[in-house]
This record gives sequence, structure tokens and C-alpha cells, in this order.
Amino acid sequence: MSELNLILLGPPGAGKGTQAERLVDDFDLPYYATGDILRAGVKNGSELGKKAKEYMDRGDLVPDDLIIGVIMERIDSAEAADGFLLDGFPRTIPQAEALDEALAGRDRRLTAALLVDVPDEEAVRRLSGRRICVKNQHLYHVEFDPPKREGVCDQDGSRLIQRDDDQPETVRHRLGVYREQTTPLVDLYEQRGILRRFDGARPPGEVHDHIRATLATLRLEEEL
Ligand SMILES: [Zn+2]
Repeated sequence: MSELNLILLGPPGAGKGTQAERLVDDFDLPYYATGDILRAGVKNGSELGKKAKEYMDRGDLVPDDLIIGVIMERIDSAEAADGFLLDGFPRTIPQAEALDEALAGRDRRLTAALLVDVPDEEAVRRLSGRRICVKNQHLYHVEFDPPKREGVCDQDGSRLIQRDDDQPETVRHRLGVYREQTTPLVDLYEQRGILRRFDGARPPGEVHDHIRATLATLRLEEEL
């Protein structure tokens, strides 16, 4: 079986998390979200993890070579022998180049960069419609999954609020940061011919079918 070494890209609100869960099931790939990985590295107490923790405890950004080190520890593990799904890394061109180099040193390379994209206005509509109950964090959406009584949780009767992160202005800001940061990466992977685009505005089931079909084809091509 050929490897599926994948990067997942997409703005907040594109449904990337949902797609990641399904892909992990379909293709039996380990899912490495950078934030989780750093925290896991810290918990497992590896040397690199301990170093990363020192930066995080100080509230500093963890340097690229350290993040790469922690990620490669995972990519070198047996569970990632047939591939992996990496989310949240790389975020910059130097990180992308460092990842390439680290993979090349192991005679591996990225199979594809999967971009699940949605127009900004759709992302704003999805994220700013979310509501959460104050008591048990039950989730609703004013448009797609409204409670029976406006502003009240169906399950425990507590008040529904909008998280600060989901305020429209905050969402627009997050989208701006994402575009600025990710566009160069998208261009890079496009130039290298490994970018695959998916329309995250479609229903999640359709997006999933499309990604699954694309990966099945890629895997066949790799085996030829
Ligand atoms: Zn509730």
C-alpha cells in the first residue's frame, strides 16, 4: 500500500474538523493537529516535548525546528508508517520547507495538500450563528440547529450565548489572518501540483465523498 502523507488546509468554518474525523476513519490514518501534538509531546515527557513546554509556559511561540522535531517524532512512529493527516502545520513557507526536508531525509514526501475552502461570508454565517449553553456547553446554531425556544437550551433550560470567538467581527478578523497566512502556502502547493481543492460550502457528506474519491485515485496513481 502506498503512503498517504497529507496536509489539511482550510479557513475556520469550512468544516475541516468534520472532514478530518471521517478521513481518519476511512483511511485509518493518524491525525496530528499541531496544538494537540505539542501538548501530547509535553505529556509524554520526550526531550523535545519538555523543551517545547518551556516556551509554552513562558507564553512564547515554539520555534519551528522544535515543532518540526515534535511532529517528526510522531511521523516516525509505527502508526504513521502508511501515512498521516497533519492539521495546523505548516503555517508558513519556511515551515513547509522544513517539513519537506525532514520528510525527504526519510525518503518520504507529501502526497497531497487538501484545501477545504468556503467563501468568507459563508464562514461568517456558519460561525456567527453558533450558540452555546452556559451550563453544559450544549451547541446550537440559530439557522441550522435552532433550540425550540430562542435563547434557551433544550436540554437543561440554561441561557444560550455567543462565544467571543464567534462574534462576526472576530470571525472576519480570524478569516483575514488565515488568508494572509495561508495563501502563500496554497500557492506553493499548487505550483508543486499537489494541491487538491474541495468546496466546503457543499453539504459535509458530499465534500467527504469528493475527498475520499480523490484520495483513492491518488493512492492508485502512486501504486502505478
Ligand atoms: Zn445545555
